[in-house]
Amino acid sequence: MTRNRQQTTDAGASTNPGSDQAEIQRLVEELDGMLSRLRLGAIREQLDALLEEAARRQLNLRESLAWLCSAEVASKEQRRLSMAMTIAHFPCVRTLEGFEFEAQPSIDPGKIRDLATCRWVANGDNVVLLGPPGVGKTHLQVALGREAVARGYTVQFTTAMELLGALVKGQQQGTLEVRLAQYAKPKLLIIDELGYLPLEPAAGHLFFQLISRRYEQGSVLISSNRPVQEWDEVFGDQVVAAAILDRLLHHSHVLTIRGDSYRLREKRRSGLFRPQAGGSSSSGIGGVPPPTPAEEV
Ligand code: ADP
Ligand code: MG
Repeated sequence: MTRNRQQTTDAGASTNPGSDQAEIQRLVEELDGMLSRLRLGAIREQLDALLEEAARRQLNLRESLAWLCSAEVASKEQRRLSMAMTIAHFPCVRTLEGFEFEAQPSIDPGKIRDLATCRWVANGDNVVLLGPPGVGKTHLQVALGREAVARGYTVQFTTAMELLGALVKGQQQGTLEVRLAQYAKPKLLIIDELGYLPLEPAAGHLFFQLISRRYEQGSVLISSNRPVQEWDEVFGDQVVAAAILDRLLHHSHVLTIRGDSYRLREKRRSGLFRPQAGGSSSSGIGGVPPPTPAEEV
């Protein structure tokens, strides 16, 4: 530690003529040890600066204590937040502040602001985001997921392929129970990109098991490029798809996003991409052609 604690403690020593240098040093070390033992790392690390600031502001003892505690609380909250964000496995950083609502008129900003309060997470409700590629589904999933993390909920982000791949593998290896428990645990499970790629035959039934397990316990925030009417094709089984939707949609908010891909819009603006004939605001879910190479940017 390179901090110079002598300065701060010297100030204390001037009011206590009986103290000598060795005594001051002993006190500094003792305090350091106690702060470590109490796991007050931020106070320990920044003690001199915090005490100097308290003196500069002429805080009394109680105010100084509150000042030190607030630094510790802020640091712990920051650490918790950054750990929870890491655990959530978001694929990128996206925020609601960074979402241009004007670019996507089919989304009601009031509805998103309401979802950002995370009451639905507290209630164990689900959110289903439907729409063609590039309209901001993943952006909103990450942004809402971050809001949930900030409010103290456990969040895990995954893709449908990754999730179902893990469940299928779990079934093959006799570890399905462990995998189901793992995905049932977070208060909010975010599942991206359902419907983009064909699923294995067993996937529908495994997904049903997971959704049943989470039903009314933890929330699911799922996105798909296919309307729910086509989910029997997605899962390759009408009965399983109906059972999944029954639970998923029971307490849910379904948001259907229509309109242009934001990525292509940016390209059109820069003149790299020509608009498609007839516009696309009426194209609806799945009505947009498959992604062009430009869209994969
Ligand atoms: P989707 O998941 O629907 O395919 P994405 O969320 O991946 O679409 O969006 C594609 C890119 O465009 C991302 O970088 C995203 O941040 C950005 N984007 C999409 N919609 C908006 C928007 N309305 N405002 C700002 N950025 C957006
Ligand atoms: Mg996406």
